[in-house]
Amino acid sequence: QEKDYQFMLRTRNPGGFIPPELYLTLDDLANEYGNQTLRVTTRQGFQLHGILKKNLKETISRIIRNMGSTLGACGDLNRNVMAPPAPFKNSKEYQYAWQYADNIADLLRPQTEAYYEIWLDGEKFVSVEEAPEVQAARERNGNGTIFHEGEEPVYGKYYMPRKFKCCVTVPGDNSIDVYTHDVSLIVITDEDGELQGFNVLAGGGMGRTHNKEETFARMSDPLCYVDKGDVYDLLKAIVATQRDYGDRVQRRNARMKYLLHDWGVEKFRSKVEEYFGKPLPDSKPLPPFEYKDFLGWHEQGDGKLFFGLSVENGRVKDEGSFRLKSALREVVEQYQIPMRLTANHDVILYEINPEDQSAIEAILTNHGLITNPNDLDHLLRYSMACPALPTCGLAITESERALPSILDRVRGVLKKLGMSKQELVVRMTGCPNGCARPYMAELGFVGSAPKSYQLWLGGTPNQTALARPYVDKMPIDELEEYIEPILAFYKQKRNKQESFGEFCNRVGFEAIQEYSANYDPN
Ligand code: SF4
Repeated sequence: QEKDYQFMLRTRNPGGFIPPELYLTLDDLANEYGNQTLRVTTRQGFQLHGILKKNLKETISRIIRNMGSTLGACGDLNRNVMAPPAPFKNSKEYQYAWQYADNIADLLRPQTEAYYEIWLDGEKFVSVEEAPEVQAARERNGNGTIFHEGEEPVYGKYYMPRKFKCCVTVPGDNSIDVYTHDVSLIVITDEDGELQGFNVLAGGGMGRTHNKEETFARMSDPLCYVDKGDVYDLLKAIVATQRDYGDRVQRRNARMKYLLHDWGVEKFRSKVEEYFGKPLPDSKPLPPFEYKDFLGWHEQGDGKLFFGLSVENGRVKDEGSFRLKSALREVVEQYQIPMRLTANHDVILYEINPEDQSAIEAILTNHGLITNPNDLDHLLRYSMACPALPTCGLAITESERALPSILDRVRGVLKKLGMSKQELVVRMTGCPNGCARPYMAELGFVGSAPKSYQLWLGGTPNQTALARPYVDKMPIDELEEYIEPILAFYKQKRNKQESFGEFCNRVGFEAIQEYSANYDPN
């Protein structure tokens, strides 16, 4: 008799867009076939955990029939395309970012019919043409240039050497960790707000392997500028470069970041130009990026409102008097509003009529949720954890289940040092794959052995600097002994307005080690 295999299922939602009918379907499926929870991912999708093999067909078909998809959310191809989640309806830049995120998702969608032809007893349950997501894409784009003829004209026979990640954002908005993707596009407009083209970054990626020096987290490099009319051809050229030159022998070295690292930007750029067919201009100057989480109430710019809700560890659940899952169900069901998921695993509800604001707020507070972002704990607000144990097969340590107690202990250290108001970006993962992007955190914890974590320092609040490993195996029981001296040093020697991450980078690890060695906790 076959074992009761269970699966994790991840949705594909460019820009984190979840229409109401899809949310309600996912909520039902979590109850009927999952573990009664939903998990917002750090790539703006939802994960359902614990789906038994016998329930997969029903689960996936219901997602597809309700404007959703799981196609390309995992695997060696383009993953969910990210875009800023803030629904600023009067901003042309934001509109372009969402539009191009959708279009890139369509451009790099595998053309295979197999996904829609899951056979059970010979019954074909939905064809490509019947799939709502394909119909919606055709309505948006017609059958123009971004639809290919023939079998997998972008990916070829063997798809990509490894997963491939893209995002589109607007100048200054780093709500999507812009430096961590294989390819990032930044919208460039003229004085009238009309789209001209994009700045392109290439070669970011988080995943690494412990004790393998040849693997590392990497921030993307500025590659070029591209006119709007050429952007799809450029993307195909970049994908083709990685498809044809990415490492297909050593899987752990197969991400495009290693090609950028090995070749350097200039060689990579000339190879892309060969595929693209013409020289690529240099990037345009842009303002610095800032991280914003868009929590709380905001105006969309078209008379309606949006509301950003912090979701601890991205876990949508009911537990005692905290009933986030029931609250979201009630709001979405009653008001039929969409949501956008954020890259910090939070939820933004939008298209809210101002007259419904107080009723929606009442539903949320009656379910035990904090609606004023100023009332949120600083550490919790900016923290992220991957699921890890018990649902991820790669996990070495706990992450999601451990982070609340870790944050309590960091909070305890800050209180002892008289720094209770200190903001810190804390991120944790159960293995070096880095799903919660710990290598961009100010305090990054990466599971390295049972009950031990690597400690990474040097990421910044705006996620514009790469952290570095400070300790390889920190027994979690000794957390306070490691972090108290570093935070005390920061309190004593920081410059005005200097973040903890910037301080660690300025003084350097040697100075931190020396201070820690002579530190008296009493
Ligand atoms: Fe990702 Fe590793 Fe966490 Fe699993 S344990 S979710 S692979 S970071």
